[in-house]
Order: sequence, then C-alpha cells, then structure tokens
Amino acid sequence: MSLMPSWVESANAPDHPFPLNNLPCGVFSTETLDPRCGVAIGDMILDLARAEAEGLVEVGAGPLFDVPFWNELFEEGPEVWAALRARLTALLARGAPERDRVEPLLVPQAGAEMHMPFLVAEYTDFYAGRHHATNVGTMFRGAENALPPNWLHIPIGYNGRASSVVVSGTPVRRPWGQLKGPEDTAPRFAPSRRFDLELEMGAVVGQASEGPVTVAEADEMIFGYVLLNDWSARDIQAWEYQPLGPFQAKATATTIGPWIVTRAALEPFRVPAPEREVPLLPHLADAGPMLYDIELSVTLAPEGEAATEIARTNYREMYYSSAQQLAHHTTSGCPMTPGDLLGSGTVSGPEKHQRGSLLELSWGGKEPVTLDTGEARSFLEDGDTVTLHAAARGDGYTIGFGPCAGQLLPALEDPYKR
Ligand code: MN
Repeated sequence: MSLMPSWVESANAPDHPFPLNNLPCGVFSTETLDPRCGVAIGDMILDLARAEAEGLVEVGAGPLFDVPFWNELFEEGPEVWAALRARLTALLARGAPERDRVEPLLVPQAGAEMHMPFLVAEYTDFYAGRHHATNVGTMFRGAENALPPNWLHIPIGYNGRASSVVVSGTPVRRPWGQLKGPEDTAPRFAPSRRFDLELEMGAVVGQASEGPVTVAEADEMIFGYVLLNDWSARDIQAWEYQPLGPFQAKATATTIGPWIVTRAALEPFRVPAPEREVPLLPHLADAGPMLYDIELSVTLAPEGEAATEIARTNYREMYYSSAQQLAHHTTSGCPMTPGDLLGSGTVSGPEKHQRGSLLELSWGGKEPVTLDTGEARSFLEDGDTVTLHAAARGDGYTIGFGPCAGQLLPALEDPYKR
C-alpha cells in the first residue's frame, strides 16, 4: 500500500497523520456548527452531516451523521462501514468529479473543537502487555510471583467505568483516596501522591454479540482503535487491589484521543503476536495477525514548560490482541454492545525507555526520570500535561491518531466541603 493522493493537498505529505488512506472518525463543532460527525483529511475535517444532507454520502438507514457520536454508524455493520469508506475515498481522491461540491464542506481543524467521538457503552481494561505485567508484578509481589499463574492463558481484565472516559484536552483532577499507612499502621484518606499515566490503545467495538464469539469473529466486530490513557493512582491501587483488582485507582478518568482510526485503515500494518510460551486454549488461539505495527510515544510537559519524550514503544509488543480480549470477554455469554471500549493494557517494551507508565519508568519511584527541563519525575506533579502519540508508517504515508492529552489539576483542598 502506498499513498493515495487527495485533492486536499495537505493530506499528501508523507508524515501527515491524516492522508486519504486514514479517514479517521471524530465529532467536532465550530462557532457556527453544532457537534456532528466528521472525518479528518489533511488539515481539514469533512462535515459528514452536511455531506449527507446534500446527498453526497448515502449509506445505511441515514441520516447517521447529524448527531454528536458515531454509534449509529457502528450499528449499521461492517458492510456499511466499508461502503462509507469507499464513498469518502472516491469523493476526496485527486481528480474526483465531486470536488466542487465537497470543498465547501471542509472545515479547518485549527478552528474546530473536538468532542468525544462515540458514546461509550461500557469500558473494560486489560492487563495484556507481558513486559508491563512482569514489571508491575515484580514491584507489587516480587520477581518470583511477577506473572500470576493464569497470565499466559487468559487476558486478565477488569470492568472499568464508562462514565469517566473523557476526550483529549479534558483536565483531570488529582483524586483523594484511601492509602495504606506506613508499616501497616491505619490507612488514611488523602490526595494520591503516586498519580500515573498508562499508555494504551483502546479498541472500539462496533458490533453486538450474543453468546461466545471466536477470535476471528471478534476481530470483525472491532470498528477501530483510539489512543487511551488509563490514569492510575498507584498508592490507591496498591491498597485496594486484592483480591478483586483495581477499583477507585482507575476510576478518576480515562482519556481517549478524538479520532477513531478504523480497522480498515490499519489493515496494511497487521503483525502477528509474539511467540507463545505455552499454547493458548483453542478458543483463544491466534487466528491470524491481529496486532498492529504502530509506533507509540509519551511526552510530559510541566506547566508552562516544553515537553520531554519519556517513553517510546510499539503496539506490537502486546501479548494478547484486542480480538483475543474481546473473544475472551464473551466466553461467559456476556453480551457485547456497539460502543464498548476495551483498553489494551499498558504497552511496554523490553527496554527501559519503552515502558508505558511512570511506575515502570521510575521503578516505583526509586529511579526518577529526568526531564529536558532538568526536573525529575517519579510520578505526575500538579500542572503536568501528558500526551500520547501514535503513528503507523506506510510506504510514503503515515496513519496518525492525533494527540491524546490531559493536564493534571491539583487535588481539591477538601473533597467533602459543601
Ligand atoms: Mn490500564
């Protein structure tokens, strides 16, 4: 696959995140336009609500795009997803005869505000990165017990909160929580001191299921992927997590990027999962290459200061694919719903600079990270902005996700003050 040229010239630069090959899905508004669905092309957004109203896009049981979420398209199913992609590709390709009618429907991204791209039905987060699980397990339980006995057999997950999923740019408030006292003294209620980020990809489920699905079926159910920061309060987590896993430590906020990159756009970047140490049971066995070669990085900017890259890794480092996670999720008969969001788990590579959380980068605070400003970080400080970045590199083109950013605000002085 090489660059597909567009008459939107900004889309044709080899390092631009939004070429015609990409066409990611978002929800935007401007001073004069209410929030609605659009796709990014170069530096612009194509207003799909108006394109549909003018008869340029007619797919499924429309209208689908005059609403501030993509869920209505999800429910139309993969044939309609493909028809939309084919139609948009034709309209925006260099030499398209409809150019004169489409051009007035382009809105500069610089003048648009981005919103949540879809209504999150439910949110599940996994723990499916081998390096991350080994690092965290070593710190929490010691090297001998780093990987729990089930880890190589099932993608471990927990049911998170859809209500606190927010779009890039939304500030996040440092939470209060119950923290373990020193030397097993009584716990105390205080602001988290070990507030962290987690670099993840989120799979957006586009199709419903009733009953168990295979890994191959699960892959077909996925509409696309977003960047995802699973903010984590490590001190709250360390006290609360046994025996049922994270609860309040992960409930403050989950930030997702504003653009859903479709599975179709990522097809050329499929890669197999790593070699299996023990074979997976047949219902979770690999059914083709279902990870993706996507470069990931994290930058951290203290308030008013320049950003430093603190981690760089690749989504292909995961042990389980989102399709395997989704298949596992349905084994009990649990129905899945369009708009369900599955966090991949923190993406860490084998090298130190490839670790996707400060917990790992600073090894629990023992080895603080030095920023370009000269400041040190073990965990996040008030005012810090964390930004996740992702790019798949093709032949003369890039599939980008747009930044996924959030600034950490100071804890309230007294969360119960009325
Ligand atoms: Mn996580």
